[in-house]
Amino acid sequence: MAQLSDDCFAFGGDLMSVAAAQDALRQRISAVVDTQTVALGAAGGKILAEDVTAPLNVPAHDNSAVDGYAVYFDDLDPTGETSLPVTGRVAAGHPLDRPAKPGEAIRIFTGAPVPVGESGPGGDIGPGPDTIMMQEDCREESGRVIIQPGIERGANRRFAGEDVRAGDVVLSAGCRLQPQTIGLAASVGRETLRVYKPLRVAVFSTGDEVREPGAALPPGAIYDSNRFTLMAALTHMGCQATDLGILPDRLDTIQAAIGEAAATHDLLLTSGGVSMGDEDHVKTAVDAQGSLDFWRLAIKPGRPVALGRIETPNGATPIAGLPGNPVAVMVTFLMIARPLILLLSGCPYIDPIRYRVRSGFEYAKKQGRREFVRARIVTDDGEPVAQKHGRGGAGVLSSLVGADGFVDLPEDTTHLDTGGMIDFLPFTEVLN
Ligand code: AMP
Ligand code: MG
Repeated sequence: MAQLSDDCFAFGGDLMSVAAAQDALRQRISAVVDTQTVALGAAGGKILAEDVTAPLNVPAHDNSAVDGYAVYFDDLDPTGETSLPVTGRVAAGHPLDRPAKPGEAIRIFTGAPVPVGESGPGGDIGPGPDTIMMQEDCREESGRVIIQPGIERGANRRFAGEDVRAGDVVLSAGCRLQPQTIGLAASVGRETLRVYKPLRVAVFSTGDEVREPGAALPPGAIYDSNRFTLMAALTHMGCQATDLGILPDRLDTIQAAIGEAAATHDLLLTSGGVSMGDEDHVKTAVDAQGSLDFWRLAIKPGRPVALGRIETPNGATPIAGLPGNPVAVMVTFLMIARPLILLLSGCPYIDPIRYRVRSGFEYAKKQGRREFVRARIVTDDGEPVAQKHGRGGAGVLSSLVGADGFVDLPEDTTHLDTGGMIDFLPFTEVLN
């Protein structure tokens, strides 16, 4: 397991682009979690910690893609019907127990091994029936199959190794184990996989005004939404998230909670309390036990994201302090915390796929910062169009619900015309 470098979050510059921040994370952050071996059935959603090499060809033998008859192509009359005796039968899992000779047709079923043949006077096993006739294209009469002309040599035959070749690296370390990746591991015979243990993330909110949902709401108070957004996002990502509740705006309480959580977690994630206001004690609390840097991002909505290290007897634990405003939390989580979490978890950070779609709205934008506009996709004349959704403020959480994702406007854009092409980032690319 790797350790954080002393300067992994050091950043002295002024405004930083989102892409530069992500590149800095890519360069400085690697997996901090240990690995474990798990059964294939328990590997879903985990991150692979080894390359998986195929020890065999898949499929292991040439086999039939259809139910029908295996024949030698050279036996077929290209201009008229061919009649051949049906002299054997191979079903899936039951290879023919003898070589197949020219002049015969072997009844064969999907997945069954294509019979091998006898070549030459010495009786060596050599190439055999090379073509499979689909049963729908033939008729069987008194032990013979009648075949129409027109088939191509090699038809309906699957070749050994056409899916995977022995020695191929079929899965690379760092990939997230999805249904299809687990299926592929099984197809090369793997029973267990080495995976990274889940990243242990402690989450807390800060603020004297922030209350637990369900509690009474005194004047001036609000319910905590950020902690629930973040816990749900972390769980989606396969992290082991610990809910550490709400911390008041008090230095000593924040300092004690951070120190304790750092000893037993791989990452601390907070929201609120990290701007430069008098009541923002997170920075002082982290500085007392490590270091905290503010990454000022050219991003909207968003505020500086605080990234730091807390020294513990077992090495440093990273902390990411997100802004307090709920939409800014979502945007900074997706753009900064999510890459950080993936990298700490053993997964490379690859830019999510954005889709080029037409804009259904006009928009004026300040130059020099990247802006994420909540939008939903409607269909206009069969074509997807992004419509701005809801109100734009950084605190307007309801506008994320009903939006399908963000229109991602680059730093240099100042104006967006209706009908112009934009990059659309669906939530499904980053929140699943
Ligand atoms: P702060 O960064 O602490 O100054 O908070 C910025 C804004 O976000 C304030 O309006 C806070 O009330 C709000 N806020 C902070 N934490 C939360 C939270 N956990 N859930 C909802 N809103 C919050
Ligand atoms: Mg606050």
